[in-house]
Amino acid sequence: MKIEGIISKIRDIPDYPKPGIIFKDITPLLRDGEAFSYCVKELRKRIEVKARGIDSIVGIEARGFVIGAALAYEMDLGFVPARKKGKLPYKKISENYTVEYGSDTLEMHSDSISKGENVLIVDDLLATGGTASAVGSMVRKLGGNVAGYAFLIWLSALGGEKKLDSNPIYLIKY
Ligand code: AMP
Repeated sequence: MKIEGIISKIRDIPDYPKPGIIFKDITPLLRDGEAFSYCVKELRKRIEVKARGIDSIVGIEARGFVIGAALAYEMDLGFVPARKKGKLPYKKISENYTVEYGSDTLEMHSDSISKGENVLIVDDLLATGGTASAVGSMVRKLGGNVAGYAFLIWLSALGGEKKLDSNPIYLIKY
C-alpha cells in the first residue's frame, strides 16, 4: 500500500453539506482493511517523530473517534472522547467552535484529563482549525498539555494551522 492508494480512496463530494464545500469522504478508505491499517500505522510513525511522551489520545466526534481510537489501540494509550453537546453523561466542560461549514459545541468530561498529562488531539481532517483548537482549549482547561494535533487529512489552503499551537501532524495534505 502506498500513499497514492490511500488518496484514491478518499472521495470528493462537491457541495456537501453546503454549496461550495468539497467534502472529503473517508468511508471508502475505512472500508478497505489494508488502507485503514496503513493509515493508522503511518500516522503513528509521524506522531512518534514529532510528538514525544504522549500519555493519552483525545478523539473528536465522530470521525476522530475512528482514527483516534485505532491509534490509541495501536499505541497502547488510553482514549478520551470529545463529544458533541448533550452526549456525555457525567460532569463536563464545553467549548463553542466554528467549522468550515457552521458552528457547534463540543464537550469533555471534567475528570477525563489529569493535571500535567500530555495529550494528542486526533481528528480525521483539519480545515479551518476551529474544532481542533476548541478541543485544545478544553484540554488545557482540564490541566493537560497539548503534545500535538494529528489528522489523516490537512486542507492546507484554509490556514487552520494558524489556530493551533503546534504544527499539525498529518498523512495527506491537499
Ligand atoms: P475545522 O474546524 O474547520 O478545522 O473543521 C474540521 C472538522 O470538520 C473535522 O471534524 C472534519 O471532519 C470536518 N470537516 C471540515 N471540512 C471538511 C471537509 N471539507 N470534508 C470533510 N470533513 C470536513
